[in-house]
Amino acid sequence: MQIKRRKSRKIFVGNVAIGAESPVSIQSMTTTNTADVAATVRQIRKLEKAGCQIIRVAVLNEAAARAISAIKRRISIPLVADIHFDYRLALLSIENGADKIRINPGNMRNPEHVKRVVFAAKQRSIPIRIGINSGSVIRTLKNKIIDDMVAAAANSLNLFKGFGYEQIIISLKANDVLTTIEAYRRVARITDAPLHLGVTAAGLLQSGIVKSSIGIGVLLLEGIGDTIRVSLTSDPVYEVSVAQKILSAVGIRNSGIDIISCPTCGRCTINLIQLVKQAEKALLPFQEEYAARKLKVAIMGCAVNGPGEAKDADIGIAWAGAAGILFKKGRKVKNVKENELIKTLIAEVRNEMV
Ligand code: SF4
Repeated sequence: MQIKRRKSRKIFVGNVAIGAESPVSIQSMTTTNTADVAATVRQIRKLEKAGCQIIRVAVLNEAAARAISAIKRRISIPLVADIHFDYRLALLSIENGADKIRINPGNMRNPEHVKRVVFAAKQRSIPIRIGINSGSVIRTLKNKIIDDMVAAAANSLNLFKGFGYEQIIISLKANDVLTTIEAYRRVARITDAPLHLGVTAAGLLQSGIVKSSIGIGVLLLEGIGDTIRVSLTSDPVYEVSVAQKILSAVGIRNSGIDIISCPTCGRCTINLIQLVKQAEKALLPFQEEYAARKLKVAIMGCAVNGPGEAKDADIGIAWAGAAGILFKKGRKVKNVKENELIKTLIAEVRNEMV
């Protein structure tokens, strides 16, 4: 199935292009105190290693805004400053080298303040994301949340246009999947600004993964969306890996190591969950090397059906009693001792790289 992507304007966030035919990029947000430069840089590097392409930090005060320049010197992905309420923090973040500003028009309502932020962004040629959240839009008497979200986006677009500024990215996140989908569909019809997709406050891992996969996945399949952020109440590294899996599942990103594993059944005699976790951790450092190509790795519970069920996998391992087998494209390559299976798998993944 070929996805026909909505035509959007191309905008650069640092060196990452968003919009038009640019690949859909993955974003995440730090959970550290931004003013703690060492901790923030540590987390950003971890996220970058996992595949995060644009990072957002919360700017709650002056110390956080000033920390941006020190953080930027020590990371290599573009940094977005997330501002609520205080336009002066946006100005200070721009001064300190932020590659993009995210503001919420629901809590920065004075057009004069917005104008000052827009002019500062314009001077440095950096984009602004108009980040609309269902919880903070101005509610009308009709109290129709989707109408209100789309109206908030339209108002901001007009305001920014009046300032002669078009480096805009839009998001319209709700914590409800269907509201989110419909709001994005409608805004996609009124602007060619690139769209940042996400379902907000999606919850813990299971709930967050389900809501984000449906919300973001449906829109991507309809060709809507230029950059994505999965929100999870969890370590943000999971946000990045879930985002990669969503892109891969809808066929947009055909690269990286895709680990498939069976649900297990009575034929499985080992602790497969533990082994898949081990393999996932061991393969994480290779994700960067596989950024431009795809490798499908299978970890299956038994050698009876495993190789057949995973015959499209480039490399696979499966268990046969106390030992295991290594297979490629469904064909057995060799027997491997159980305690050497993960080691063998990693060696094969490394071999495939050369
Ligand atoms: S691969 Fe084997 S263990 Fe896994 S579900 Fe299929 S039959 Fe069961």
